[in-house]
Amino acid sequence: MRFPPLYGKIDLDELQITNGATRVPEFDLVIIGGGSGGYACALRSAQLGKSVALIEADKVGGTCLHRGCIPTKALLHSAEIADGAREGGKFGVKSSFDGIDMAGVNSYKDGVISRLHKGLQGLIKSRAITYIEGYGKLVSKNSVEVNGQIYTGKNIVLATGSYAKTLPGIEIDGKKIITSDHGTKMEYVPKSVIILGGGVIGCEFASVWKSFGSDVTIIEGLSHLVALEDESSSKQLERAFRKRGIKFELGVFSKSVTTNKKGVEVTLENGKTFSAEILLVSVGRGPVSANLGYEATGITMDHGYVLVDDKCRTNVPGIWAVGDLIPTQQLAHVGFAEGVLVAEEIAGLNPSPINYDGVPRVTYSDPEVASVGLTTAEAKRRGHDVVELTYDLAGNGKAQILGTAGSIKLIAEKDGAILGVHMVGARVGELLAEAELIFNWEARAVDVASLLHAHPTLSEAMGEAHMALAGKALHAHG
Ligand SMILES: Cc1cc2nc3c(=O)[nH]c(=O)nc-3n(C[C@H](O)[C@H](O)[C@H](O)COP(=O)(O)OP(=O)(O)OC[C@H]3O[C@@H](n4cnc5c(N)ncnc54)[C@H](O)[C@@H]3O)c2cc1C
Repeated sequence: MRFPPLYGKIDLDELQITNGATRVPEFDLVIIGGGSGGYACALRSAQLGKSVALIEADKVGGTCLHRGCIPTKALLHSAEIADGAREGGKFGVKSSFDGIDMAGVNSYKDGVISRLHKGLQGLIKSRAITYIEGYGKLVSKNSVEVNGQIYTGKNIVLATGSYAKTLPGIEIDGKKIITSDHGTKMEYVPKSVIILGGGVIGCEFASVWKSFGSDVTIIEGLSHLVALEDESSSKQLERAFRKRGIKFELGVFSKSVTTNKKGVEVTLENGKTFSAEILLVSVGRGPVSANLGYEATGITMDHGYVLVDDKCRTNVPGIWAVGDLIPTQQLAHVGFAEGVLVAEEIAGLNPSPINYDGVPRVTYSDPEVASVGLTTAEAKRRGHDVVELTYDLAGNGKAQILGTAGSIKLIAEKDGAILGVHMVGARVGELLAEAELIFNWEARAVDVASLLHAHPTLSEAMGEAHMALAGKALHAHG
């Protein structure tokens, strides 16, 4: 008999046969989907002594590892090197940009993915998780069918993730009209690109392709790029992109898209027309939940998302859901946190619910946009008595050395805790670790102002911003 578990061990004597499908012994958890949310839940549960079956239809690591976070950040790093080669003269280094070798870029990127993939497979094996290759379908409140076999769990965790959406009338052909799935695997640098959607993914690809030498135009229906960020950050990114020659049209939706021999033509609702070699559709991601037995099992859903409470419990006892499948921020570290939360809740550790305001967020474009906590608009909407301070990175030694522009904006309750930190500039994503602690530990400006920051680092700007807000600015006016 062919038996699918690749890593874990199952006693074959315990097998029972039911209605033609093979039934294997019950697990503490059966997890459908081995992306960030699913595998984090598997690893933590196994660590807590639970028996776990992890079902994955494609590759463990999911979107983030194979077509999301990791490949895009590798592309962005190649882009940074390209800009470094172009701009060497500014720093007294003789260098020139002679072009992009996509085979070389892909070999570097795929090498990173492959090492991380192997590491993750090893980790799963070492924790004795039963890894099942195949497409799982929920067939009852406590069982999942894969390849004609039934896996039963005291708990079922749904972690089937998300897919790249498109718009009505725009058909993804993978050649001229693509999504990020294709964008991370390109074998050439397009001469020109139109990007439909100026959110995080759209802006990151715009940044890569501009550095690689493409002519880039972003079309965004909302009034700003990265519109979920504080308006001040969006405006700074727009200024920086404009300076880099990245073009964009804001506050206007596309009306039609056609392809021709040369590429694509996009007509906007305001009548303007744009042509390019390819079109990247980056208009958001939708939950993977159709035809998986979720609704049939009585799980409450909304627009395909599985609805959960603050411990990621669905309305069906024993069924949980995590990651991009539920309507929380679609970020890998949110998926990790939800997976761990579920594992710990099942193990009886009673973990605290996740504070989604305290989730760090980064757009890894050049310049980076990073934030944690509330925007000014949201803080006011929630009735906070808000004070703000913006520290210009021009006053920071390391920013001058790197040649980056940007700022750190603090939003605080008057005489109270920091409510939000919003940053723009090279490498500001690395400053989020401290910003996250400040926000989540409800520090006040005066608490942070007394802490030392190494000189000369970008992190000094974090200290200076808090000193200024506490009324004792050193290298800033005010
Ligand atoms: C281009 C891009 C860049 C991104 N960059 C970042 C970033 O820099 N930082 C960040 O935090 N987030 C980033 N994200 C978001 C991040 O990738 C997701 O939030 C994360 O992958 C969600 O994890 P998940 O486990 O919910 O879903 P997924 O990672 O999508 O995993 C779901 C898994 O379930 C499997 N599956 C689905 N249905 C079944 C089934 N029926 N049976 C078995 N298996 C099934 C799939 O094959 C998949 O492997 C990016 C996303 C994209 C697309």
